[in-house]
Amino acid sequence: MHYLLLCAAILLPESLAFPAHMKLEAWSSVDLEKVKAYLDKFFPLFPKTQNLSLEERIKEMQRFFHLTVTGTLDKETEETMKLPRCGMPDIAEYQTFPGSPRWKKTHLTYRIVNYTPDLPRRKVDDAIKKALMVWSDVTPLNFQRIQSGRADIEIRFARRAHGDGYPFDGKGGTLAHAFAPGEGLGGDAHFDEDEKWSDFSQEVNLFLVAAHEFGHSLGLAHSNVRGALMYPIYSYENPATFKLPADDRRGIQKLYGKRSSNS
Ligand SMILES: [Zn+2]
Ligand SMILES: [Zn+2]
Repeated sequence: MHYLLLCAAILLPESLAFPAHMKLEAWSSVDLEKVKAYLDKFFPLFPKTQNLSLEERIKEMQRFFHLTVTGTLDKETEETMKLPRCGMPDIAEYQTFPGSPRWKKTHLTYRIVNYTPDLPRRKVDDAIKKALMVWSDVTPLNFQRIQSGRADIEIRFARRAHGDGYPFDGKGGTLAHAFAPGEGLGGDAHFDEDEKWSDFSQEVNLFLVAAHEFGHSLGLAHSNVRGALMYPIYSYENPATFKLPADDRRGIQKLYGKRSSNS
């Protein structure tokens, strides 16, 4: 079964356009086009890897997620592809992160451009503030909220195509994405309005996703350390007792150094 599917992939003409969006939760069986779309999005090909076979690309994905490396679309691999996750790719040297960009200043501004109807505004404000504090607590960075003008980190809720070339995909699948430090879109964080956002364990917790996305806004790529905040797959933990894992702390302090007053 898997073998046949992989062969079919090799025979497909390269020019065949695969859909950019996928409804991961709707998979009832192995769907080759969706697998390829997933790999194209999260494990994009570079010029030097252009000739990798689908089997090699599946192996790359399996190694990243510490799965059994089979090169076939086994159950474990298919299940992993269906998990709700961040929209950013899983390779550090992705084209939006060339040369490890970081902010050249420690005072950064943020603006909440719009709100989700899923939560009271006060709770959105609170989740965003706490998510930024996750990072400012362990670095010399500080964040100031502004109400108008262009902020370093602009925060928006949007659905489907929303003007930046990275359309969201409806409920499930991609939950949010953010841009590495830089001018314009740089630093901005977008949240998929087709998700149901929450401030507790139901649906998708805004604080946890925002804390992850702000890691990207500050220059961190994905980590393949399980349990790290920058791991690309969403998992719930209690925001009230959340503590930044050591892997993420090392990453952000490598970019910005430690906070002088503590640790
Ligand atoms: Zn991410
Ligand atoms: Zn966006």
